[in-house]
Order: sequence, then structure tokens, then C-alpha cells
Amino acid sequence: MSNLVEQLALIVGDKAVLSGEMLKERATSYWDSAPTQAQVLVKPASTEEVSRILAHCFSLNQSVVIQGGLTGVVAGAKSASDDVILSLERLTEIEAIDSQEGVATVQAGVVLQRLQEELATKNLLFPLDLGARGSCTIGGNVATNAGGINVLRYGMVRNLVVGLEVVLMDGTIMSSMYPMLKNNTGYDLKQLFVGSEGTLGVITKVMVRLFPLPTSRQTAMIAVDSFEHVIDLLNQFRKGLAGTLSAFEVMWQKYYCGVTGDGDHKPPMSRDYPFYILVEAEGFDNSSDRFRFEKLLEIAFEQGKICDAIIPTSDRERAELWIVREEFDPLLPSYLYDVSLPLKHMLEYTDELEQRLKAEIGNVESVVFGHIADGNLHIFVRPSSDQAYAKPNEHEEVNKIVYGSLKNYGGSVSAEHGIGLEKMAWLNINRSHTELNLMRSIKCALDPKNLLNPGKVFSLANL
Ligand SMILES: Cc1cc2nc3c(=O)[nH]c(=O)nc-3n(C[C@H](O)[C@H](O)[C@H](O)COP(=O)(O)OP(=O)(O)OC[C@H]3O[C@@H](n4cnc5c(N)ncnc54)[C@H](O)[C@@H]3O)c2cc1C
Repeated sequence: MSNLVEQLALIVGDKAVLSGEMLKERATSYWDSAPTQAQVLVKPASTEEVSRILAHCFSLNQSVVIQGGLTGVVAGAKSASDDVILSLERLTEIEAIDSQEGVATVQAGVVLQRLQEELATKNLLFPLDLGARGSCTIGGNVATNAGGINVLRYGMVRNLVVGLEVVLMDGTIMSSMYPMLKNNTGYDLKQLFVGSEGTLGVITKVMVRLFPLPTSRQTAMIAVDSFEHVIDLLNQFRKGLAGTLSAFEVMWQKYYCGVTGDGDHKPPMSRDYPFYILVEAEGFDNSSDRFRFEKLLEIAFEQGKICDAIIPTSDRERAELWIVREEFDPLLPSYLYDVSLPLKHMLEYTDELEQRLKAEIGNVESVVFGHIADGNLHIFVRPSSDQAYAKPNEHEEVNKIVYGSLKNYGGSVSAEHGIGLEKMAWLNINRSHTELNLMRSIKCALDPKNLLNPGKVFSLANL
């Protein structure tokens, strides 16, 4: 056992330290099954232990990579062989649920779905929701400023956090745990850490906003023949559902056909339409909510904007519709993109992308789906072959086309997944030299030795 492993074991106990073969048994992430690389993985069970680990690593100039549920899409939690991994997997307590103040205090390693389920028993809602809910952690959600399917109604994680406890690289604990939504007392420091992707501090505790759990839910899958109608319907639902619209997910035909092919998910409706929308509204009065929802669908049918629709009549039927949107395994492996751009340019962009991929690379195709009410598209580009996927050249060529075209439409290279390692080369499409320099100043102030998740988001050297 190395000195470092022994010293960390003195802080957390032998069983909470993994190294050697035991560490290699863990996959790098949800997306990458390669064995984890690191000197040692350490699992603290309290904020104080996190602080002692970081202070110790700081004194040794030892780099540290923070890991939550490992579902992040941009390799932000990926470690190298000389890193220490700090995993939040033992910080799993839901410490308090305060329905009067409308806040819950949650340790960083709590899995999102567990919090959702616990709150539901008390008729409360934490409205963050995403396909990785069964594995991602609250700490990871905050560190990535996660988005998901309810952003159009409740905002991204940034809007849902009222308090944060963070440990800095030198071991200092910053507690900024105030339950009030309004608190204009100088800089809002907690927001620095939201979306910082593990580069500024270890998030150990989060105070999140709660809402009443809706008691009625209306869902429909709709087939539409043009993107113009998709946008019309979004606007009609936004207006007609009086703020209860909670999800508006759009799938392009190639996506829908890709996940409902032979042996995959059962297609809920014909695979012949150009666009499919999964729309959901949540409220508190089932009969009037249902009437309003169905009336809107009826009007849209009469206007010729809807070709076909399914309204599920049970939770099971609803789940079968959502599987089509959330379980995209039949499309993997693919090169994954998460961009945002103005709605008015979306179709032009996706058409241009498809044409350029065909003309400049050939045998690759793009499938598109996304949270389009937030201007957010997920694009999966299927590689020309499994062999090509394993080599970086084709991926790099696809990157150039996806991001190169996006620049002309004023889009963002990352809508909700962050930058991590994967998008670093493209960050300057969206961020000016001045902005990047300011980010560097903040990083240097909070982590002067550049030990926390070093080399992620931006490189200090290249600025
Ligand atoms: C099927 C699927 C669907 C998804 N859908 C969405 C979606 O709709 N919207 C969306 O935004 N994302 C989505 N994601 C991406 C992912 O789930 C989110 O980025 C999630 O917030 C990551 O949480 P995690 O706990 O897995 O973090 P990890 O993957 O472990 O880490 C992500 C980053 O956060 C840092 N980090 C983790 N925990 C902490 C902490 N406690 N303190 C400081 N830094 C920390 C890590 O260093 C890393 O940089 C999806 C992923 C999958 C697999």
C-alpha cells in the first residue's frame, strides 16, 4: 500500500479507499466501460472528511478529480493514472425536508430519483428530471447545472438551488445555506459553483427549492408533418395551458425510427411522420386540466397541425411513450452533441448538417431530438462503422461540421451537458478572450495550485 493510500485510509477508514485491481473493476463512466485510471479512489462520509482529504492533497500538490454518479456526457469526471478520485457516493443523506419554507437539504451523493420519490411521499416536487435520474447525483446535477425535461417550466438547476456547502481545494469549508429565495447580500457565491464541473470546489450539501407535487398530469404523443407546425404547437400549448406545460420533447423521424426498429422499443404509432412530440402538462385539477389539454389537441387537429396523437390511459402506457424518448441505447455508439440555437434556425441547421455530413464524410448520419422549447437539440451522429468510432479522425471531422455550422447560427456548443474534456477545443466559439481570462482568474483564486479537476473546461496554459 502506498503512503498516500495509507494516509487517506487514516481519514476515511480502510474500506472507503480503493486502489489497484479493485479500482480497475469500476468503469470510467456510464458511457465508457474502460477501467478507471487513478492512484486511489476515496469515499468520504462527511463534509469534515472531504475537508481533511482536500487539505492533505493540497499539502502534497496532489490532483483530485470529483465523481458523482458518472453519467456526465463530456468526460468531466474522467481521471488520469496519477489522480486521486474523490467520490461522493457515501454522502447520501436527505437531511431535512421543510415543506413550510419549500426547501430540502440534501447531501451531494443523493441520487436524484431517490430524492424525487422521497418528496412525492410528502406531496412535494423537486422539478429537475432527466433520463439519468436513477444514477445521477444532486452534487453532479449542480456541478453540471443540469437541464432535462422540465426546464421550460422550472428552469435549469441554477434556478432551483438556494443554498450550497462547498469545500475548497485547501480544505476550507464554505457554507452558504440560506433557505430564502431573496438574498441580495453581495456576490451570490454559490452560483459560481453551479456549472463549475468540479473545477472550483467539492459540493457537499445542497439546499434545493421545492414545489407542490402536481396532482394531475396530461400526456400526449403527437405526430406532425412540418417543423413549422411543431413551433406553432409549442406556442399554442404555452399560451393555452396557462403555465402548466411542463415538457415538450421533439423527436425527428430518424430518431423515432432508430429507437423503434426491429427488436427495439415498440413504436407507439406509425413511423411515417417527419416529427413526433411528447407533450406533458401538470396541474392540480384533473377534470379542468384534462378538458383544456384535450380541447387544445382537438383545435390543433382541426387546424391540420396534428397528423396523429396518442393519449395514454394509464401510467404504464405513459411510461411506454417516454421510453421512446429516453432510452436511446439502440442508437449507440454515436458521437453525441448537445447544442442550443434559436428556434427559427433549427431546421435550417439540422438540414445543413445532414447535407454536409453526407457530402464531406459520406457514410454517417445524424439523428436529432431534444428539449426544443429551450432551444436545445441533442444530435447523435452514427459513425460510418464500429472501427471508425474507435478512431479519433472521423469524430474530429464530425465535430468540425457540427460546431462549424453552429457558429453561423449563433448557437452554443453546450446547452446542458457542460464542457468537461470533450468540448474544450470548441469553447472559444461561445466565450470571448475576456470571458475566458475572467474564468481563469476565478479558477486561480479558488484553486491556486490548479489541483481540482485540472485540465477540464479550459486549459490554463492556452489562455
Ligand atoms: C441517459 C442519460 C440522460 C441524460 N439526460 C440529461 C438531460 O436531459 N439533461 C442534462 O443536463 N444532462 C443529462 N445527462 C447527463 C448527466 O446525467 C448530467 O450531467 C448529470 O447532472 C451528471 O450527474 P452525475 O452525478 O452523474 O455527475 P458525474 O458524471 O459524476 O460528474 C459530472 C461533473 O460534475 C463534477 N461533479 C460531480 N459531483 C460533484 C460534486 N459533488 N462537487 C463538485 N463537482 C462534482 C464532476 O467532476 C464532473 O465534472 C444524461 C445522462 C444520461 C446517461
